[in-house]
Amino acid sequence: MVSPPRQLTIALQAATQYGDDVKEYAFSIDPTFAFLPGQYVTLRFPGEKRYHAFSIASSTNERGTLRLLIKAVGEFTKRLFNAPLGSTLELLGPLGTFTIPADENEVVMIGGGVGVAPFLGVVRTACDAKLTRKCTLFYSCRQCVEIACKDELDELPAKSANVAVVVTLTRETPQGWAGELGRVDASMLQRRLGSLDGKTFYLCGPEAMVAGVRESLKGAGVPAARVRFEAWG
Ligand SMILES: Cc1cc2nc3c(=O)[nH]c(=O)nc-3n(C[C@H](O)[C@H](O)[C@H](O)COP(=O)(O)OP(=O)(O)OC[C@H]3O[C@@H](n4cnc5c(N)ncnc54)[C@H](O)[C@@H]3O)c2cc1C
Repeated sequence: MVSPPRQLTIALQAATQYGDDVKEYAFSIDPTFAFLPGQYVTLRFPGEKRYHAFSIASSTNERGTLRLLIKAVGEFTKRLFNAPLGSTLELLGPLGTFTIPADENEVVMIGGGVGVAPFLGVVRTACDAKLTRKCTLFYSCRQCVEIACKDELDELPAKSANVAVVVTLTRETPQGWAGELGRVDASMLQRRLGSLDGKTFYLCGPEAMVAGVRESLKGAGVPAARVRFEAWG
């Protein structure tokens, strides 16, 4: 059920860095804060006017902690990147409708870079809540060092037979790499999933990636109604 947006203060508890400019932040939050996987929150530092949107990367079952995967690109995100533990922020949320309807039984998610954030929330929730819906996450990164939460993602399929994760690297071929290489397109999806019929595709990431995957799915005959996306560019 959709929860109305609330105004809360959150405090930075921990941060883990991936590559040069991305961190996963864990904030302490009122344990009654509820959201749907795929929704986002908006944040600002106390005293600032403008809020900034970030997808929720945590499981809905993880009460009291809010996880966000954020790339430092401009003033707000760079300030957050350098903020000490204990820093507080003002939150308005949850917001957004990039959520998966309960009757969707086979979901394919394609995240580019930090565009994986809402899908981390979906697969974490699927494992924690033992959902029976089949979810496959395609996660595209430039290099191995940028793969957020890699150890956890590697372990997810062992926790739930309904969750699969495919990581693809676009700018590096590490020795012994068993994942995919190159950009996600319809042929990679067909190789991993078999037929694309009856599946719904959720795309999130840079505009160019989202546009490229949409075009490729269209070329493979996937109806537009089966492709949902959120582009942040
Ligand atoms: C619904 C929604 C969900 C989002 N979820 C996330 C999320 O989970 N994680 C996340 O990191 N970001 C997410 N974003 C993007 C995030 O809101 C912006 O990156 C952030 O507000 C930028 O604020 P800033 O002050 O740091 O940069 P600004 O000062 O606003 O921008 C600085 C410069 O960076 C460029 N820029 C802005 N955003 C990006 C970007 N994403 N990639 C490359 N260049 C960019 C701008 O064009 C500008 O030139 C989301 C956006 C939306 C709309």
